[in-house]
Amino acid sequence: MAKPHVVVIPYPAQSHVIATMELSQRLVQHGIRVTFVNTDFNHKLVTSNWLDKESFGDLLQMVSIPDGLEPWEDRSDLCKLTLSIMQTMPHKLEELIETINKEEGSKVSCVIADDCMGWAIKVAKKMGIRRAAFWPASVATLASMLSFQKLIDDGIINEKGTLLKEQIIQLSETMPPMKSENLCWVCFKDVATIEAIFLLVKEAEEASRLTEWFICNSTTELEAAAFCLFPKLLPIGPLLASNRLADQVGHFWQEDRTCLTWLDQQQPCSVIYVAFGSFTLFNQTQFEELALGLELSNRPFLWVVRPGMTKETTSNYNYPDGYMERVGARGRIVSWAPQQKVLAHPSVACFMSHCGWNSTIEGVTNGLPFLCWPYFADQFHNESYICDIWKTGLRLEKDEAEIITRGEIRTKVEELLNGETYTGKALDIKEKVTRSVREGGCSHRNLNNFIDWIKDK
Ligand code: UDP
Repeated sequence: MAKPHVVVIPYPAQSHVIATMELSQRLVQHGIRVTFVNTDFNHKLVTSNWLDKESFGDLLQMVSIPDGLEPWEDRSDLCKLTLSIMQTMPHKLEELIETINKEEGSKVSCVIADDCMGWAIKVAKKMGIRRAAFWPASVATLASMLSFQKLIDDGIINEKGTLLKEQIIQLSETMPPMKSENLCWVCFKDVATIEAIFLLVKEAEEASRLTEWFICNSTTELEAAAFCLFPKLLPIGPLLASNRLADQVGHFWQEDRTCLTWLDQQQPCSVIYVAFGSFTLFNQTQFEELALGLELSNRPFLWVVRPGMTKETTSNYNYPDGYMERVGARGRIVSWAPQQKVLAHPSVACFMSHCGWNSTIEGVTNGLPFLCWPYFADQFHNESYICDIWKTGLRLEKDEAEIITRGEIRTKVEELLNGETYTGKALDIKEKVTRSVREGGCSHRNLNNFIDWIKDK
């Protein structure tokens, strides 16, 4: 009998691709055939940076379809990218599925779409294929997105998603409050981008109604109250918690694995790991202040400085004068780390993070306390969970000039790492999260039921 064949399609951003690849790994481990659909642009990045292709065997196939932009066009222009995706990708996906279906014995039995690619759920429905939506970020973020009609009714946003008034939003009594300015579509600078992203939000809402399964990379242990708002949404995560040391795949940049050897040489529980995800940008003043704060902390640190992390760092990194000499072997700087392996390393003491959802659950799953430095959208809400609900981290606060100073960095590092308070709580929550993905746990049960449903085609 032919194996069930699933088409998986992520939103074309780094964190979404990594999370949907993790889901695909689980499916492949259960003997399900997966065709993973990147955009042409990301496909090139992912396949050229994939170090251990053999580990998947032949059940995973990586394919791509165009996003509608020319290769040289700027994909960080989210307005242009979003409109182009919605115009081009639905019929390209349909064509791809038709082609696959013509091949003997490989008919597509199910489409799993990132909920941010809600249009793909519509394509599956139109083609009479079973469908599941996957939400890779926090349920609290999803809750804020799916409540857009109430936000319109309350006069907080207009019909096109633009913010009308700044207000604290309380989605449920036991969830942390959020600022309306941090809604994930509102936080963009220009109206055109806000309106384009808001279209995706509306598609996501529609997809959540049309989908047969709605699964997410979180667990009730982390955000019980948010799950109460969506009985249809089932936790299956954190996916990586069932195999913390697995090779992560789907990277847009090549991982520098030499930093693992450097970590081997450090004292247990001594290193500050510093990373801000795939698109956070720094201004030069803040970049230097961070560098000096790490120097002042007097502890070993591993710092990810992506190419282009500040406007000035595309080719030339502007570290303070004499910095490298002063810091010496105590500091290790890489352009992209094997983050999950770093976080699982016994030398790492804490995670200075921008609090993207992937980074948040990766830190939580490894029992690490956080120093929170959010920039954007849902990162502020994730920070609230870390600092106020789970109590596993501290906020880095800005001064009057809107800068996080070197002194603030040193003080918070000391406060976080002196004593057991944060580390102890972080280990408690790691234990709970790990239980949910083990035999008998809620996420484990949901994932198995989901896999049974896929197999029962
Ligand atoms: N990541 C990585 N190496 C790095 C920095 C980040 O592998 O040096 C991975 C990290 O493990 C996570 C993803 O990139 O899975 C970033 O996702 P997140 O949601 O934290 O942030 P975003 O990039 O969406 O801001």
